[in-house]
Amino acid sequence: MHKARARLIHNRAQQPGPVVYWMHREFRARDNWSLAHAAELAAERGQPLCVAVCLARGFGLAAPAHFAFLVHGLRETAQELAALGIPLALLRGEPGQEVPELVRGLRAGLLVTDVDPTRIKRGWLAQALPRLDIPVVEVDARNCVPARAASDKREYMARTLRPKIHRLLPEYLDEFPPLPAPLSAPLSDRPRPGTPAWSAPLPRPDWDALSAEFGQPPASFPPGEAAARARLDVFLRQGLPRYADARNTPVDPAASLLSPYLHFGQLSAQRVALVVLKAKDVPPEAREAFLEQLIVRRELAENFCLHTPDYDTPDAFPAWAAATLDKHQADTRPHLAGEAELEAGDSPDPLWNAAQRQLLATGHMHGYLRMYWAKQVLLWSPDAATALARCLRLNDSLSLDGRDVNGYAGIAWSIGGVHDRPWPERPVFGTVRSMTLSGARRKFDVAAFVQKWSGKAD
Ligand SMILES: Cc1cc2nc3c(=O)[nH]c(=O)nc-3n(C[C@H](O)[C@H](O)[C@H](O)COP(=O)(O)OP(=O)(O)OC[C@H]3O[C@@H](n4cnc5c(N)ncnc54)[C@H](O)[C@@H]3O)c2cc1C
Repeated sequence: MHKARARLIHNRAQQPGPVVYWMHREFRARDNWSLAHAAELAAERGQPLCVAVCLARGFGLAAPAHFAFLVHGLRETAQELAALGIPLALLRGEPGQEVPELVRGLRAGLLVTDVDPTRIKRGWLAQALPRLDIPVVEVDARNCVPARAASDKREYMARTLRPKIHRLLPEYLDEFPPLPAPLSAPLSDRPRPGTPAWSAPLPRPDWDALSAEFGQPPASFPPGEAAARARLDVFLRQGLPRYADARNTPVDPAASLLSPYLHFGQLSAQRVALVVLKAKDVPPEAREAFLEQLIVRRELAENFCLHTPDYDTPDAFPAWAAATLDKHQADTRPHLAGEAELEAGDSPDPLWNAAQRQLLATGHMHGYLRMYWAKQVLLWSPDAATALARCLRLNDSLSLDGRDVNGYAGIAWSIGGVHDRPWPERPVFGTVRSMTLSGARRKFDVAAFVQKWSGKAD
């Protein structure tokens, strides 16, 4: 693994004892740099490795469907880990307290964890570190080019990050190594003869109880690593060849629908990139268009959250956008929407309603419509701060891929001009780019989309 993927974030004296990998973003056994690094460190030290997952009580706006997607996928990951000889400990409660508690109980010598710049995860880490007396290493297993290696500042727009990413990609876009054989016994807490013992029993998950507690995830997205790979296969055949022309068409879309799997880490973006690069029978412009979204846009969103602590507030907007929105705050709105009307998809705009109903029905909204959707919320809200809060609430609670850096960047782009430039001035938006129903009609068959999701004529 490239050494820039790992960073020592808690410098404490080296200790003997097992290695614990605290998995909180990359919920997968395959193609996982955090797991690979933890396994390598365990092998070097001649120590066993265990993976710890802590299900937090409440996770921002996450709904039972999100937990269901996570838990059902994790069951499969736990089986894959067990086959590799790596036990999974499942904790419940405050991760910032429970993980250090486990580390103490196991007399672990080293903690490895995933990188995540979002506020909740930063909070967990801030709570955990003072409780830990062992070294803690953070691994960037999310980005093809580790976010801190790509840039040490907030990038202005895709144009400024793209060359940095492209320059470093050949260095980082490498194959994943096989995991070294672990030392702990696979299916019991008892070590093999001659290997170190766990000093405390590992808290094992009761999968049936968890399934009963959280129910089933949306039928449109079967959870887990195998389902993610199956979706990738379908995309390679049916979506990728058309991606350059049809990615922005919500009717018969060419988009991959991979975002829930990428968000929950059930699929590695690096694996997707490697597979797409090998798809030689696909037009090169389709591959490039897709890799621009998968790598540059996704990693721009990571850069935004990493370097903008208030990424989900109007303080994150660039000065020109904040000024123009302020100037137009008193403009008359064509409609002032209520929260319930938005949530139910009952606005005066048939396309907006159809997009919201697609989200309600499937846990996903097409990417082009997400932009339109957020911009209409700005048009119908008394001010940009209210629009931002509404979009974040709806997106994070209803979208299966919500609570993701992509969502924070996408909403800030739509409402606050983040990563964009000024456009011709209009009421309410000022110089923030607007999108209109007539513009959508020129792009795709709005009537067909409305008919499909609202069951009504446009
Ligand atoms: C208002 C708004 C809200 C959004 N909310 C989310 C969200 O909650 N979670 C989320 O993952 N994405 C979000 N996005 C970004 C983007 O719309 C989705 O990633 C994409 O639509 C997911 O569908 P897909 O996997 O079929 O995309 P594809 O077109 O197949 O793209 C493949 C992957 O590339 C990445 N990607 C694509 N478009 C973007 C983009 N514009 N910015 C960053 N990465 C991108 C995603 O990881 C995506 O899965 C949002 C965008 C906007 C404008």
